[in-house]
Amino acid sequence: MSRGPQTVLRGQLVGPGGVVPGELRFGERLEAVTPLEGAPDDLYLLPGFVDTHVHGGGGGDTMDGPGGIRTLARLHARHGTTTLLPTTITAPWEQVLAALRGVREVMNAGGVPGGADVPGAHLEGPFISPGRLGAQPPHTLEPTLGRVAEVLATDTLRAVTLAPEVPGGREAALAFARAGVRVGIGHTRADADPVTALLEALHAAGGRTCATHLFNAMGGIEGRVPGPAGALLADSHACAEVILDGLHVHPTVFRLARAAAQGRVLLVTDAMRAAGLGDGESELGGQPVTVRGGRATLADGTLAGSVLTMDQALRNAVAAGVPLPGASVMASTAPAASVGLKDRGRLEVGLRADVVVLDRALQVRAVYVAGRPVELTARA
Ligand SMILES: [Zn+2]
Repeated sequence: MSRGPQTVLRGQLVGPGGVVPGELRFGERLEAVTPLEGAPDDLYLLPGFVDTHVHGGGGGDTMDGPGGIRTLARLHARHGTTTLLPTTITAPWEQVLAALRGVREVMNAGGVPGGADVPGAHLEGPFISPGRLGAQPPHTLEPTLGRVAEVLATDTLRAVTLAPEVPGGREAALAFARAGVRVGIGHTRADADPVTALLEALHAAGGRTCATHLFNAMGGIEGRVPGPAGALLADSHACAEVILDGLHVHPTVFRLARAAAQGRVLLVTDAMRAAGLGDGESELGGQPVTVRGGRATLADGTLAGSVLTMDQALRNAVAAGVPLPGASVMASTAPAASVGLKDRGRLEVGLRADVVVLDRALQVRAVYVAGRPVELTARA
């Protein structure tokens, strides 16, 4: 097997411990990560972003099948995302299965040329609360063990979002956890205590756990009513997805999450089809969506996912006071770890050469997916 051409990049290396001048050498994998005095101080080199919750972008949606997945993977790659989990929406069962088979088809084809890597899918719904749909259409289903087996059989799932209080929810959560799937608690009306008990059971089974878009589609925290958000933040293992677009969570709530869940906050986009397309009319799960001023809403005003990209989420985290190394952990290191991807999320020799180059204003200057440069100027 040929090693292929080697790329050399110099700039400020961003790692969990800080920022140091240095040099990267890589083919498909990182071959050298070396401190280097005098490296350019106007370029930052970061591990590629990992988005574990993204429905669409560039006009494509996970529910469209392989074509839509390729479109969204290319759009988000231009914004620094080198790994993503195409995310399904609550829909009739056959459509959910078809979407997962579409993800499998993309994976079998060896990925998306010019796009982010697709190592699996995120199943968001239909196993959620009919009383906390958010922008999900009302096609909820109970997670019978038969249905759980059916989605696991697609051999795509790395993450799932479910409401533990729906009939069969606890058993399904444990089955997913035992299969190595990150269990996200979300779109839920559960009380705090059963969530705490479930998290403990999932951890005891060796499972990975998370809050799906913390504070969105779940109750808030009150002194005597901590709700699922309180239970998830108080847990010492569960990660917490945050949609940091300036619309879904208040900056103070983001700071609270960061303080409570040090190292466990993940930036996600929850982006929909219209991400990267500007204002206009779009669609989510068969429902009309209007995007105006970067705000995507259903006809009744409900926020319909976002048009966020990971580079903007990172800039928003920094603007909210997170030092760049911490923001990079939220955008890459923590999300990769949260779904068991050990071969990425850090700039270390031997890992995939997934690299984002940012300028001083944290704008994307170059992106490499497994060492291959992404064409930044391509249209969706
Ligand atoms: Zn979502």
